[in-house]
Amino acid sequence: MTTPTAHETVRTDVLVVGAGPGGASAATHLARLGRDVILADGATFPRDKACGDGLTPRAVAELEHLKLDHVLQGGPVNKGLRGYGFGKALVLPWNGPHLPKHGSAIARTVLDNALRAAALDAGATGLDGHRAIDVVLYRGKLTGVVLRSADRIVTVEAKQVIVADGGKSHLGRQLGRTWHQETVFGVASRAYATSPNADDPWITSHLELRDETGRMMGGYGWVFPLGNGLVNIGAGTLATKKRPANINLRKLTEEYARQRQDEWQLGDLTGYGSAPLPMGGAVSGVAGKNWVLIGDAAGCINPLNGEGIDYALETGRLAAEHLIERGPLADLTTSWADELYAEYGEAFSIARRLGILITSERIMKMSGPIGMRTPGVMKVAFRVMGNLVTPEDRDVVARAWRLAGRASLALDRRRPFH
Ligand SMILES: Cc1cc2nc3c(=O)[nH]c(=O)nc-3n(C[C@H](O)[C@H](O)[C@H](O)COP(=O)(O)OP(=O)(O)OC[C@H]3O[C@@H](n4cnc5c(N)ncnc54)[C@H](O)[C@@H]3O)c2cc1C
Repeated sequence: MTTPTAHETVRTDVLVVGAGPGGASAATHLARLGRDVILADGATFPRDKACGDGLTPRAVAELEHLKLDHVLQGGPVNKGLRGYGFGKALVLPWNGPHLPKHGSAIARTVLDNALRAAALDAGATGLDGHRAIDVVLYRGKLTGVVLRSADRIVTVEAKQVIVADGGKSHLGRQLGRTWHQETVFGVASRAYATSPNADDPWITSHLELRDETGRMMGGYGWVFPLGNGLVNIGAGTLATKKRPANINLRKLTEEYARQRQDEWQLGDLTGYGSAPLPMGGAVSGVAGKNWVLIGDAAGCINPLNGEGIDYALETGRLAAEHLIERGPLADLTTSWADELYAEYGEAFSIARRLGILITSERIMKMSGPIGMRTPGVMKVAFRVMGNLVTPEDRDVVARAWRLAGRASLALDRRRPFH
């Protein structure tokens, strides 16, 4: 890296750090509402992000809400999940009563580039290749964020800051964010391969994940067709500090691809990538006086399936609305944690409890075969695991899910986002 020569200071209403789905969503909403926004990212776009690239109906709904459904044009349309395990296969269409009946899968190089471009179209100023390296605090308020590019250092002075810098959230850590790894978190990896079946209109998932010795691993493997001659193939599992995954993820992905070879006729694996996934709101310090964390930085990933794009898009919208409603002088420290808790607390609490159960080898060996023989049970499981229960849903499954969430919260030693 060359030594930056120029030092500058710029001012804005809102600085958004991280231009993934979370940051891009927040910046788009804020810019459309007339705010002066800078959207900074350390990477230069288009950039890749290790991901399964799967968009659930909830993510599709949020893109429609953002009026960015054009981003999905040209991408595949999938109808639901073909789930395999314990000698059975089940076809489970997407089944959220108040959500679209289709999902998609778009490589993150393409999706994130389009989302960032939408934010710039809406009026946000993009600073890519600018990494946040330091913060300026005055009486507990974040008065500036120092960004470094190849040739300059810029201090952005903003009235409010949205931190959307992903799972590791270095900036969040500098501001006091703690990720509680005694609560379940994910580790996952993905690769790409060519396949003649890349137009398959179903995503597929294997709940019976085995390593090269045939040992059953907690977790699942997936193949998500991208509709462009490629599939995204990967595997993930859950862990806690007490029960680390101790898995060579790359090897597991390669083994899973070998097992899927006959069905998918896969070409060589490319674009291998992996990352840890903070889940279920197992993060505290999600806000300060004038800053909030969103998306992965706030631990907003579903512990039952590892999806986080929808939450990133949603928390981007919620944060934009929160900042505007509360105004630039309000203290956001508790109000943002409370809002995340109200929105996701119940579902995250029960999901992280169940996540631990379904990734236990012993419990999966007992319950997996029963579940796969009972399509009604799997239909319900798919709905709750796929994050397809919305606040508008009044049916028995939705009510039971919310009730279980409330009961689970009552047992939590640490509430989500606290
Ligand atoms: C292997 C794997 C598979 C997954 N599969 C799926 C899936 O199929 N579907 C799904 O919905 N979710 C999936 N997820 C989760 C999903 O990838 C994340 O939830 C999602 O990317 C979160 O978006 P975000 O905007 O919060 O963060 P990110 O997408 O991580 O974006 C963060 C951005 O911040 C930037 N940044 C970081 N630090 C700085 C800094 N200091 N300064 C400036 N910029 C910075 C980064 O360059 C990046 O662009 C998967 C995750 C993994 C690891």
